[in-house]
Amino acid sequence: MLDKNSDPQNASALANRWQSIGDSIFSKMTKLASHHKAINLGQGAPDFYGPQKLLDAICTHMQTCHNQYSPAPGENYLCEQLALFIEQQTSVKYDPNTEITVTCGASEALFCTLNAFLSEGDKVILFEPAYDLYAQAIANTGAQIVPVQMDPPEANSEANEDKLWTINWESFEKACQQGFKCIIINTPHNPTGKVFTKNELKKIGYAAHKNKAIIISDEVYENLSFTDSRPYTSVASIPELRDITIRISSSAKLFGFTGLKIGWASAPEHLTKGIQLVHQSTVFCVNPALQLGLAECLADKEWLSQYLQTQQESYRKKRDILKTILKNAGFFLSACDGTFFLCANYKEIYKNTNSLEFSNFFVENSKIATIPFASFYLKPPTAFPWVRFAFCKSDETLLSVEKNLLKNG
Ligand code: PMP
Ligand code: GLN
Repeated sequence: MLDKNSDPQNASALANRWQSIGDSIFSKMTKLASHHKAINLGQGAPDFYGPQKLLDAICTHMQTCHNQYSPAPGENYLCEQLALFIEQQTSVKYDPNTEITVTCGASEALFCTLNAFLSEGDKVILFEPAYDLYAQAIANTGAQIVPVQMDPPEANSEANEDKLWTINWESFEKACQQGFKCIIINTPHNPTGKVFTKNELKKIGYAAHKNKAIIISDEVYENLSFTDSRPYTSVASIPELRDITIRISSSAKLFGFTGLKIGWASAPEHLTKGIQLVHQSTVFCVNPALQLGLAECLADKEWLSQYLQTQQESYRKKRDILKTILKNAGFFLSACDGTFFLCANYKEIYKNTNSLEFSNFFVENSKIATIPFASFYLKPPTAFPWVRFAFCKSDETLLSVEKNLLKNG
Protein backbone atom coordinates (compact mmCIF):
# COMPACT_ATOMS: atom_id res chain seq x y z
CA MET A 1 0.00 0.00 0.00
CA LEU A 2 1.20 3.49 -0.74
CA ASP A 3 2.19 5.63 2.19
CA LYS A 4 -0.44 8.41 2.35
CA ASN A 5 2.18 10.80 3.64
CA SER A 6 4.60 10.20 0.80
CA ASP A 7 4.80 12.98 -1.70
CA PRO A 8 4.65 11.46 -5.19
CA GLN A 9 5.82 14.78 -6.62
CA ASN A 10 8.72 14.68 -4.14
CA ALA A 11 9.62 18.34 -3.91
CA SER A 12 13.16 17.47 -2.95
CA ALA A 13 13.61 15.72 -6.30
CA LEU A 14 13.77 19.13 -7.95
CA ALA A 15 17.32 20.00 -9.01
CA ASN A 16 18.99 22.55 -6.76
CA ARG A 17 19.24 25.08 -9.55
CA TRP A 18 15.44 25.31 -9.78
CA GLN A 19 14.72 25.33 -6.04
CA SER A 20 14.54 29.11 -5.75
CA ILE A 21 12.07 29.52 -8.65
CA GLY A 22 8.37 29.62 -7.75
CA ASP A 23 5.19 29.90 -9.82
CA SER A 24 5.18 32.83 -12.25
CA ILE A 25 3.59 35.96 -10.83
CA PHE A 26 1.86 36.44 -14.20
CA SER A 27 0.05 33.11 -13.90
CA LYS A 28 -0.77 33.79 -10.25
CA MET A 29 -2.28 37.20 -10.89
CA THR A 30 -4.21 35.95 -13.93
CA LYS A 31 -5.71 33.19 -11.77
CA LEU A 32 -6.60 35.69 -9.06
CA ALA A 33 -8.14 38.05 -11.63
CA SER A 34 -10.34 35.27 -12.88
CA HIS A 35 -11.22 34.13 -9.33
CA HIS A 36 -12.26 37.67 -8.28
CA LYS A 37 -13.80 38.53 -11.67
CA ALA A 38 -11.35 41.40 -11.85
CA ILE A 39 -9.98 43.40 -14.78
CA ASN A 40 -6.65 41.80 -15.60
CA LEU A 41 -4.06 44.57 -15.91
CA GLY A 42 -1.46 42.16 -14.52
CA GLN A 43 -0.18 39.84 -17.24
CA GLY A 44 0.91 41.69 -20.37
CA ALA A 45 -1.43 40.03 -22.85
CA PRO A 46 -3.81 42.01 -25.11
CA ASP A 47 -7.54 41.36 -24.70
CA PHE A 48 -8.07 42.19 -28.38
CA TYR A 49 -7.07 40.58 -31.65
CA GLY A 50 -3.95 41.30 -33.66
CA PRO A 51 -4.13 41.68 -37.47
CA GLN A 52 -6.52 39.41 -39.39
CA LYS A 53 -4.02 39.39 -42.28
CA LEU A 54 -1.58 37.42 -40.12
CA LEU A 55 -4.22 34.88 -39.11
CA ASP A 56 -5.29 34.41 -42.73
CA ALA A 57 -1.71 33.96 -43.89
CA ILE A 58 -1.03 31.39 -41.16
CA CYS A 59 -4.22 29.46 -42.00
CA THR A 60 -3.31 29.33 -45.68
CA HIS A 61 0.21 28.12 -44.95
CA MET A 62 -1.09 25.57 -42.46
CA GLN A 63 -3.17 24.06 -45.32
CA THR A 64 -0.53 24.30 -47.98
CA CYS A 65 3.01 24.27 -46.59
CA HIS A 66 5.17 21.20 -45.97
CA ASN A 67 4.20 20.99 -42.28
CA GLN A 68 7.39 19.04 -41.61
CA TYR A 69 10.41 20.16 -39.62
CA SER A 70 11.77 23.50 -40.70
CA PRO A 71 15.50 24.07 -40.98
CA ALA A 72 16.52 24.50 -37.30
CA PRO A 73 17.62 28.15 -37.64
CA GLY A 74 14.29 29.07 -39.26
CA GLU A 75 12.49 29.04 -42.62
CA ASN A 76 14.80 30.75 -45.14
CA TYR A 77 12.04 33.10 -46.28
CA LEU A 78 11.36 34.28 -42.73
CA CYS A 79 15.06 34.77 -41.99
CA GLU A 80 15.32 36.93 -45.14
CA GLN A 81 12.30 39.01 -44.17
CA LEU A 82 13.55 39.36 -40.60
CA ALA A 83 16.93 40.59 -41.81
CA LEU A 84 15.16 43.30 -43.84
CA PHE A 85 12.82 44.18 -40.99
CA ILE A 86 15.60 44.42 -38.40
CA GLU A 87 17.58 46.64 -40.75
CA GLN A 88 14.53 48.88 -41.19
CA GLN A 89 14.01 49.12 -37.41
CA THR A 90 17.63 49.50 -36.31
CA SER A 91 19.70 50.14 -39.46
CA VAL A 92 21.82 47.10 -38.51
CA LYS A 93 22.43 44.52 -41.25
CA TYR A 94 22.40 40.78 -40.48
CA ASP A 95 23.09 37.91 -42.86
CA PRO A 96 19.87 35.86 -43.04
CA ASN A 97 21.88 32.67 -43.64
CA THR A 98 24.25 32.86 -40.71
CA GLU A 99 23.15 35.53 -38.24
CA ILE A 100 19.46 34.94 -37.51
CA THR A 101 17.74 32.27 -35.41
CA VAL A 102 13.97 31.85 -35.24
CA THR A 103 12.88 30.68 -31.80
CA CYS A 104 9.76 29.71 -29.87
CA GLY A 105 9.12 33.25 -28.66
CA ALA A 106 11.68 35.64 -27.23
CA SER A 107 11.55 33.39 -24.17
CA GLU A 108 13.30 30.56 -25.99
CA ALA A 109 15.79 32.96 -27.57
CA LEU A 110 16.70 34.21 -24.08
CA PHE A 111 16.91 30.70 -22.67
CA CYS A 112 19.16 29.50 -25.53
CA THR A 113 21.37 32.57 -25.39
CA LEU A 114 21.90 32.51 -21.64
CA ASN A 115 22.48 28.76 -21.65
CA ALA A 116 24.86 28.94 -24.60
CA PHE A 117 27.20 31.48 -23.04
CA LEU A 118 26.98 31.22 -19.26
CA SER A 119 28.78 28.62 -17.18
CA GLU A 120 28.73 27.92 -13.47
CA GLY A 121 30.23 30.81 -11.55
CA ASP A 122 30.11 33.35 -14.43
CA LYS A 123 28.77 36.77 -13.54
CA VAL A 124 25.90 38.37 -15.41
CA ILE A 125 24.83 41.95 -14.86
CA LEU A 126 21.10 42.53 -14.68
CA PHE A 127 19.34 45.86 -14.20
CA GLU A 128 16.62 45.68 -11.55
CA PRO A 129 13.65 45.82 -11.57
CA ALA A 130 13.80 43.09 -14.21
CA TYR A 131 11.44 40.83 -16.13
CA ASP A 132 11.45 37.58 -14.13
CA LEU A 133 12.39 35.22 -16.95
CA TYR A 134 16.05 36.27 -16.95
CA ALA A 135 16.67 35.00 -13.43
CA GLN A 136 14.84 31.79 -14.24
CA ALA A 137 16.91 31.10 -17.36
CA ILE A 138 20.13 32.06 -15.58
CA ALA A 139 19.30 29.68 -12.71
CA ASN A 140 19.72 26.81 -15.16
CA THR A 141 23.30 27.83 -15.96
CA GLY A 142 24.71 28.14 -12.46
CA ALA A 143 25.88 31.67 -13.27
CA GLN A 144 25.60 34.41 -10.71
CA ILE A 145 23.44 37.48 -11.17
CA VAL A 146 24.99 40.79 -10.22
CA PRO A 147 22.04 43.18 -9.89
CA VAL A 148 22.38 46.87 -10.77
CA GLN A 149 19.66 49.09 -9.40
CA MET A 150 17.49 51.47 -11.34
CA ASP A 151 16.11 54.15 -9.05
CA PRO A 152 12.45 55.19 -9.19
CA PRO A 153 11.52 58.85 -9.35
CA GLU A 154 10.60 60.35 -6.03
CA ALA A 155 6.86 59.95 -5.61
CA ASN A 156 5.45 63.37 -5.09
CA SER A 157 1.86 64.01 -6.03
CA GLU A 158 2.52 67.69 -6.75
CA ALA A 159 5.05 66.73 -9.38
CA ASN A 160 3.03 63.88 -10.85
CA GLU A 161 4.55 64.41 -14.28
CA ASP A 162 6.67 62.15 -16.39
CA LYS A 163 9.54 61.43 -14.04
CA LEU A 164 11.97 58.77 -15.19
CA TRP A 165 13.58 55.76 -13.61
CA THR A 166 17.32 56.31 -13.64
CA ILE A 167 20.28 53.95 -13.72
CA ASN A 168 22.20 53.98 -10.49
CA TRP A 169 25.64 54.47 -12.04
CA GLU A 170 27.41 53.94 -8.76
CA SER A 171 25.81 50.49 -8.51
CA PHE A 172 26.79 49.89 -12.16
CA GLU A 173 30.46 50.83 -11.65
CA LYS A 174 30.63 48.56 -8.63
CA ALA A 175 29.13 45.65 -10.57
CA CYS A 176 31.61 46.15 -13.43
CA GLN A 177 34.59 46.06 -11.08
CA GLN A 178 33.86 42.39 -10.32
CA GLY A 179 34.24 41.46 -14.00
CA PHE A 180 31.36 39.85 -15.91
CA LYS A 181 30.64 37.57 -18.85
CA CYS A 182 27.27 38.97 -19.95
CA ILE A 183 25.12 42.00 -19.45
CA ILE A 184 21.37 42.05 -20.08
CA ILE A 185 19.76 45.17 -21.46
CA ASN A 186 16.02 45.47 -22.02
CA THR A 187 14.81 48.50 -23.93
CA PRO A 188 12.01 49.61 -24.01
CA HIS A 189 12.10 48.25 -20.48
CA ASN A 190 9.67 45.91 -18.76
CA PRO A 191 8.44 46.83 -16.15
CA THR A 192 9.51 50.50 -15.87
CA GLY A 193 8.56 51.74 -19.36
CA LYS A 194 11.99 53.38 -19.63
CA VAL A 195 13.54 53.68 -23.07
CA PHE A 196 17.33 53.70 -22.70
CA THR A 197 18.97 56.68 -24.38
CA LYS A 198 21.83 56.26 -26.83
CA ASN A 199 24.24 57.72 -24.27
CA GLU A 200 23.12 55.25 -21.62
CA LEU A 201 23.49 52.38 -24.08
CA LYS A 202 26.97 53.58 -25.04
CA LYS A 203 28.09 53.82 -21.44
CA ILE A 204 26.80 50.32 -20.65
CA GLY A 205 27.95 48.85 -23.95
CA TYR A 206 31.49 50.26 -23.75
CA ALA A 207 31.85 48.76 -20.27
CA ALA A 208 30.84 45.39 -21.74
CA HIS A 209 33.33 45.86 -24.57
CA LYS A 210 36.11 46.69 -22.13
CA ASN A 211 35.32 43.54 -20.12
CA LYS A 212 35.16 41.38 -23.29
CA ALA A 213 31.58 40.57 -22.29
CA ILE A 214 28.52 39.74 -24.39
CA ILE A 215 25.50 42.05 -24.48
CA ILE A 216 22.09 40.40 -24.54
CA SER A 217 19.63 43.02 -25.66
CA ASP A 218 15.94 42.20 -25.22
CA GLU A 219 14.08 44.57 -27.54
CA VAL A 220 10.68 42.89 -27.73
CA TYR A 221 8.89 46.23 -27.26
CA GLU A 222 10.79 47.79 -30.18
CA ASN A 223 7.68 49.24 -31.79
CA LEU A 224 6.20 50.61 -28.58
CA SER A 225 8.20 53.77 -27.99
CA PHE A 226 6.21 56.96 -27.52
CA THR A 227 8.45 59.92 -26.67
CA ASP A 228 10.14 61.66 -29.59
CA SER A 229 12.89 63.10 -27.40
CA ARG A 230 13.79 59.67 -26.05
CA PRO A 231 13.33 57.35 -29.05
CA TYR A 232 14.07 53.64 -29.06
CA THR A 233 17.62 52.83 -30.14
CA SER A 234 19.10 49.38 -30.49
CA VAL A 235 22.42 48.89 -28.73
CA ALA A 236 23.46 46.84 -31.79
CA SER A 237 23.29 50.01 -33.89
CA ILE A 238 26.29 51.45 -32.03
CA PRO A 239 29.05 50.37 -34.41
CA GLU A 240 31.59 48.97 -31.91
CA LEU A 241 28.84 47.05 -30.15
CA ARG A 242 27.15 45.19 -33.00
CA ASP A 243 29.60 42.31 -32.88
CA ILE A 244 29.29 41.67 -29.15
CA THR A 245 25.48 41.97 -29.07
CA ILE A 246 22.72 39.40 -29.33
CA ARG A 247 19.50 41.23 -30.11
CA ILE A 248 16.24 39.51 -29.27
CA SER A 249 12.73 40.38 -30.38
CA SER A 250 9.32 38.77 -30.79
CA SER A 251 6.16 38.67 -32.84
CA ALA A 252 4.19 38.59 -29.57
CA LYS A 253 4.43 42.35 -29.04
CA LEU A 254 4.75 43.41 -32.67
CA PHE A 255 1.55 41.66 -33.70
CA GLY A 256 -0.31 41.49 -30.41
CA PHE A 257 -0.73 37.72 -30.37
CA THR A 258 1.26 36.57 -27.35
CA GLY A 259 0.26 32.98 -28.10
CA LEU A 260 2.03 32.98 -31.46
CA LYS A 261 5.39 32.30 -29.81
CA ILE A 262 7.72 33.25 -32.61
CA GLY A 263 10.77 35.19 -31.58
CA TRP A 264 14.19 35.71 -33.09
CA ALA A 265 17.77 36.39 -32.15
CA SER A 266 20.14 38.28 -34.43
CA ALA A 267 23.84 38.21 -33.69
CA PRO A 268 27.22 37.88 -35.39
CA GLU A 269 27.90 34.43 -36.78
CA HIS A 270 30.18 33.16 -34.00
CA LEU A 271 27.52 33.99 -31.37
CA THR A 272 24.67 32.72 -33.56
CA LYS A 273 26.38 29.31 -33.72
CA GLY A 274 26.18 29.04 -29.91
CA ILE A 275 22.51 30.05 -29.81
CA GLN A 276 21.67 27.54 -32.55
CA LEU A 277 23.44 24.74 -30.72
CA VAL A 278 21.14 25.15 -27.72
CA HIS A 279 18.11 25.83 -29.92
CA GLN A 280 18.57 22.50 -31.77
CA SER A 281 18.73 20.76 -28.38
CA THR A 282 15.58 22.38 -27.01
CA VAL A 283 12.83 22.74 -29.61
CA PHE A 284 14.98 22.17 -32.76
CA CYS A 285 12.65 24.26 -34.92
CA VAL A 286 9.50 26.38 -34.88
CA ASN A 287 6.17 25.60 -36.58
CA PRO A 288 6.65 26.32 -40.33
CA ALA A 289 3.13 27.62 -41.08
CA LEU A 290 3.47 30.25 -38.33
CA GLN A 291 6.86 31.25 -39.66
CA LEU A 292 5.67 31.54 -43.26
CA GLY A 293 2.55 33.48 -42.28
CA LEU A 294 4.66 35.92 -40.33
CA ALA A 295 7.13 36.23 -43.23
CA GLU A 296 4.28 37.08 -45.60
CA CYS A 297 3.14 39.96 -43.37
CA LEU A 298 6.68 41.28 -42.97
CA ALA A 299 7.13 41.15 -46.75
CA ASP A 300 4.14 43.42 -47.42
CA LYS A 301 6.02 46.63 -46.69
CA GLU A 302 3.19 49.05 -47.30
CA TRP A 303 0.80 47.14 -45.06
CA LEU A 304 3.48 46.67 -42.41
CA SER A 305 4.41 50.31 -42.18
CA GLN A 306 0.74 51.35 -41.88
CA TYR A 307 0.10 48.62 -39.28
CA LEU A 308 3.09 49.55 -37.11
CA GLN A 309 2.20 53.24 -37.16
CA THR A 310 -1.41 52.59 -36.22
CA GLN A 311 -0.34 50.19 -33.48
CA GLN A 312 1.97 52.76 -31.94
CA GLU A 313 -0.67 55.50 -32.03
CA SER A 314 -3.29 53.24 -30.54
CA TYR A 315 -0.99 52.21 -27.65
CA ARG A 316 -0.07 55.83 -26.97
CA LYS A 317 -3.77 56.58 -26.64
CA LYS A 318 -4.30 53.61 -24.33
CA ARG A 319 -1.41 54.74 -22.16
CA ASP A 320 -2.95 58.18 -21.84
CA ILE A 321 -6.41 56.84 -20.99
CA LEU A 322 -5.05 54.72 -18.14
CA LYS A 323 -2.62 57.43 -17.02
CA THR A 324 -5.46 59.90 -16.49
CA ILE A 325 -7.60 57.38 -14.61
CA LEU A 326 -4.79 56.30 -12.28
CA LYS A 327 -3.58 59.84 -11.60
CA ASN A 328 -7.11 60.93 -10.73
CA ALA A 329 -7.33 58.00 -8.33
CA GLY A 330 -4.26 59.25 -6.44
CA PHE A 331 -1.47 57.07 -7.83
CA PHE A 332 1.92 58.62 -8.61
CA LEU A 333 3.05 57.43 -12.04
CA SER A 334 6.56 57.28 -13.45
CA ALA A 335 7.01 58.22 -17.10
CA CYS A 336 6.13 55.53 -19.63
CA ASP A 337 8.21 56.23 -22.75
CA GLY A 338 7.71 52.71 -24.08
CA THR A 339 6.23 49.18 -23.58
CA PHE A 340 2.61 48.73 -22.55
CA PHE A 341 3.18 49.11 -18.83
CA LEU A 342 2.51 51.96 -16.43
CA CYS A 343 4.25 51.89 -13.06
CA ALA A 344 2.46 53.37 -10.11
CA ASN A 345 3.45 54.29 -6.59
CA TYR A 346 0.39 53.79 -4.37
CA LYS A 347 1.68 55.24 -1.07
CA GLU A 348 -0.94 58.05 -1.05
CA ILE A 349 -3.84 55.62 -1.20
CA TYR A 350 -2.71 52.53 0.70
CA LYS A 351 -0.32 52.51 3.61
CA ASN A 352 1.04 48.95 3.39
CA THR A 353 4.31 49.12 1.46
CA ASN A 354 4.46 45.39 0.70
CA SER A 355 3.55 45.40 -2.99
CA LEU A 356 2.43 41.77 -3.04
CA GLU A 357 -0.03 42.48 -0.25
CA PHE A 358 -1.26 45.55 -2.11
CA SER A 359 -1.78 43.57 -5.33
CA ASN A 360 -3.69 40.87 -3.44
CA PHE A 361 -5.81 43.49 -1.70
CA PHE A 362 -6.45 45.46 -4.88
CA VAL A 363 -7.50 42.51 -7.01
CA GLU A 364 -9.97 41.40 -4.36
CA ASN A 365 -11.35 44.82 -3.38
CA SER A 366 -11.03 47.03 -6.45
CA LYS A 367 -11.29 44.10 -8.86
CA ILE A 368 -8.18 45.17 -10.74
CA ALA A 369 -5.18 42.87 -11.12
CA THR A 370 -1.66 44.38 -11.11
CA ILE A 371 1.87 42.99 -10.82
CA PRO A 372 3.67 43.76 -7.55
CA PHE A 373 7.16 45.19 -7.98
CA ALA A 374 8.55 42.70 -5.44
CA SER A 375 8.39 40.13 -8.27
CA PHE A 376 10.92 42.03 -10.33
CA TYR A 377 13.77 41.75 -7.80
CA LEU A 378 16.01 38.96 -6.54
CA LYS A 379 15.87 40.60 -3.12
CA PRO A 380 12.89 42.96 -3.12
CA PRO A 381 13.65 46.33 -1.52
CA THR A 382 11.76 46.99 1.69
CA ALA A 383 9.06 49.66 1.81
CA PHE A 384 8.69 49.80 -1.96
CA PRO A 385 5.08 50.66 -2.79
CA TRP A 386 5.14 50.15 -6.58
CA VAL A 387 2.94 48.07 -8.87
CA ARG A 388 2.75 47.60 -12.65
CA PHE A 389 -0.41 48.06 -14.73
CA ALA A 390 -0.59 46.64 -18.27
CA PHE A 391 -2.49 48.83 -20.75
CA CYS A 392 -2.52 46.40 -23.70
CA LYS A 393 -6.30 46.27 -23.32
CA SER A 394 -9.29 47.51 -25.29
CA ASP A 395 -10.29 51.13 -24.59
CA GLU A 396 -13.53 49.77 -23.06
CA THR A 397 -11.57 47.63 -20.61
CA LEU A 398 -9.37 50.57 -19.66
CA LEU A 399 -12.37 52.85 -19.16
CA SER A 400 -14.00 50.26 -16.92
CA VAL A 401 -11.02 50.63 -14.54
CA GLU A 402 -12.39 54.04 -13.59
CA LYS A 403 -15.79 52.54 -12.77
CA ASN A 404 -14.17 49.89 -10.57
CA LEU A 405 -12.12 52.49 -8.74
CA LEU A 406 -15.17 54.67 -8.12
CA LYS A 407 -17.33 51.72 -7.09
CA ASN A 408 -14.85 49.89 -4.89
CA GLY A 409 -12.48 52.66 -3.80
N1 PMP B 1 11.11 39.80 -22.83
C1 PMP B 1 10.28 40.65 -22.23
C2 PMP B 1 10.84 41.93 -21.70
C3 PMP B 1 8.93 40.36 -22.10
O1 PMP B 1 8.11 41.23 -21.50
C4 PMP B 1 8.46 39.14 -22.60
C5 PMP B 1 7.01 38.79 -22.40
N2 PMP B 1 6.35 38.81 -23.53
C6 PMP B 1 9.35 38.27 -23.23
C7 PMP B 1 10.67 38.63 -23.32
C8 PMP B 1 8.91 36.95 -23.78
O2 PMP B 1 8.43 37.08 -25.09
P1 PMP B 1 7.68 35.89 -25.85
O3 PMP B 1 6.26 35.94 -25.43
O4 PMP B 1 7.89 36.17 -27.29
O5 PMP B 1 8.33 34.62 -25.43
N1 GLN C 1 5.83 39.35 -20.61
C1 GLN C 1 4.58 39.30 -19.96
C2 GLN C 1 4.50 40.40 -18.89
O1 GLN C 1 5.50 40.97 -18.51
C3 GLN C 1 4.26 38.00 -19.30
C4 GLN C 1 4.70 36.75 -19.95
C5 GLN C 1 4.20 35.53 -19.24
O2 GLN C 1 3.12 35.52 -18.68
N2 GLN C 1 5.00 34.55 -19.24
O3 GLN C 1 3.44 40.65 -18.44
